[in-house]
Amino acid sequence: MSEVPIKPPVEVKYTQLLIDGKFVDAASGKTFKTLDPRTGDVIANVAEGDAEDINRAVAAARKAFDEGPWPRMTAYERQKVLLRFANLLEQHNDEIAALEAWDSGKPYQNALIEVSMVTRLMRYNAGWADKIHGLTVPAHGPFHMQTLYEPIGVAAGIIPWNFPLPMYAWKVAPALACGCTVVLKPAEQTPLTALLVSQLLYEAGLPPGVLNVIPGFGPTAGAALASHMDVDKIAFTGSTETGRIISDLATKSNMKPVTLELGGKSPFIVCEDADVDKAVELAHQALFFNQGECCAAGSRTFVHERIYDEFVEKAKQRALKRSVGDPFKEGTEQGPQIDETQFNKILKYIKSGVESGATLESGGERLGDKGYYIKPTVFSNVKDDMLIAKDEIFGPVQTILKFKDLNEVIRRANATHYGLAAGIFSQNIDTINTLTRALKAGTIWVNCYDVFDAALPFGGYKMSGHGRENGFNGLLNYLQVKSVCTTLVNPAWL
Ligand code: NAD
Repeated sequence: MSEVPIKPPVEVKYTQLLIDGKFVDAASGKTFKTLDPRTGDVIANVAEGDAEDINRAVAAARKAFDEGPWPRMTAYERQKVLLRFANLLEQHNDEIAALEAWDSGKPYQNALIEVSMVTRLMRYNAGWADKIHGLTVPAHGPFHMQTLYEPIGVAAGIIPWNFPLPMYAWKVAPALACGCTVVLKPAEQTPLTALLVSQLLYEAGLPPGVLNVIPGFGPTAGAALASHMDVDKIAFTGSTETGRIISDLATKSNMKPVTLELGGKSPFIVCEDADVDKAVELAHQALFFNQGECCAAGSRTFVHERIYDEFVEKAKQRALKRSVGDPFKEGTEQGPQIDETQFNKILKYIKSGVESGATLESGGERLGDKGYYIKPTVFSNVKDDMLIAKDEIFGPVQTILKFKDLNEVIRRANATHYGLAAGIFSQNIDTINTLTRALKAGTIWVNCYDVFDAALPFGGYKMSGHGRENGFNGLLNYLQVKSVCTTLVNPAWL
C-alpha cells in the first residue's frame, strides 16, 4: 500500500451550496475539507452550510412548493423531468462513479453499479408519478366520499457517507415524484456527488428551488433542518444515536413525520445442510461488501456446529485472498474506510475482540502506512456477549458464532436491539420458512444477500428504524391523504 494513488479520472466541478437552483457560498463564508480516504489528502474545500443557509434553502423550497410550478404541473410533466434526469445519469455515469469512488473510497466498479441502481430507482419512481391517485369510497348515506393524495410539502433528507448516491436517490426520487420540494444535507465526508447530480437534475428541467443541497455538519446544518418549522417531513439514514436526536428535534418542533433507517447487527445463518463453499462466499460478501460499511451487513455469521470448523478455515482463506487496494485499480474488492474516525473505531473493536477471547483468524490491523485501509479481519469462537457481537462495527470484521439447533439460533439472532436484515443459507424449505417468519428483521435474504430493488421496501424493525423506503411504501412517506365528503343533494339513482 505504499503505491502512488491512481489519479481519479474526474475533476471537481461543484463545491458550493445549491439554493434555489444556483450555486452560492455559505452565508458565513466558511468552508470545510472533504478528504481522499486513500491518503487523507484534501480533495476540495466545500461551502459549509449552517442554520442560516438551511433557512435560505427551506425558504426557497417553501416558495417553490407554495407558489411554484412543480406541485401544480401535471404528473406526466414531472415524470418527464425525472426520466430526462435518469438519461443524464446514464450519460455521465463514468464521471459520477469516479467522483463517488474518490470521495468515499469505494471501488470504482461498485460505484458504477450504484449509479445504474440509482438510474433505475429514478425511473421506477418517475413511473409512479402519474399513477398516484385516491379512491372513491363507498358511503353509508347520501354522500360522495373520496380520498385525494397530495404531496406532503417541503421534504428534508439527511444522509450518510456509506452509499451517498443511493441514499440521495432514496430520499429525492420519491419526494420529487410525489410533487414535493426538497432540502437535502449530504454527509460531511461525501458532499460531492450530491452537488454534481443535482446540477444534472436542474439541466433536466427542474424548476428553481425544487431541490436544494446544503453540505455541512450534523449538529449545525442537520439539526437546523430537523427542527425547522417550515419542513413538513424528514427522512434520515445513519446511526441509531443520531436518528434519536433527529426524531426528538422533529417532535419538539412541528411534529413533522420522520422516516428512520438506522443501524443493524444482522444475522447471517448458515444451516447444517449448506454447501460450505457457497455459504462461505456469500457470508464473505454479506459482511465485507462496501468495506463492511453497510447498515445491512451480515455482521453476525451463525454457523451450525457440524460444519463450523470447515467454515471457519475457508472463511479465513477467503478473507486472506480479498484484494484490498486503490478503488481505481482493476480488481480491487475493498478500498479504504471512509475516514480516520471510522478507521480508529474499527481498530478499537478489533482490539476488544482479541481482549475478550475471540480467536483472530486473519487481518486485525491496518494495511500500509497511509490512508485508512484495514486488512479483512475474521474472528471465530465469538460469544454473544462480546462487544464485537453486539455493536455495529461498520468495518471489514467478520464474527463467526457457533449454533446447535434452530430454536437456539432464532433466539440468539433476535437477541439484539436491531432488526434491519437477516440472511439464511439453506436448501431445506421447512427451515427457510421457519426462519423467514421467526426472524425479526425488515428484510430477509434467502440464499442471497444485499439484493436491493427500487420496487422492494427496505427498513427496520426495533431500533433499526421505522417506515419503509422504496416500492410504493416509499412514496407514501411523501403523501398526505385528504378525505373529501360531499353531500349528494340529488343522488344519481333517484
Ligand atoms: P451519523 O448518523 O452521525 O451521520 C449521518 C448523517 O447525520 C450525516 O449527514 C451527519 O451530518 C448527520 N448528523 C449527525 N449528527 C446530527 C445531528 N445532531 N442532527 C442532525 N443531523 C446529524 O453517522 P456517523 O457519525 O457518520 O457514523 C457513526 C456510526 O453510524 C458508524 O460507525 C455506523 O455505525 C453508523 N452509520 C450507519 C449508517 C447506516 O446506513 N445505517 C450510515 C453511516 C453510519
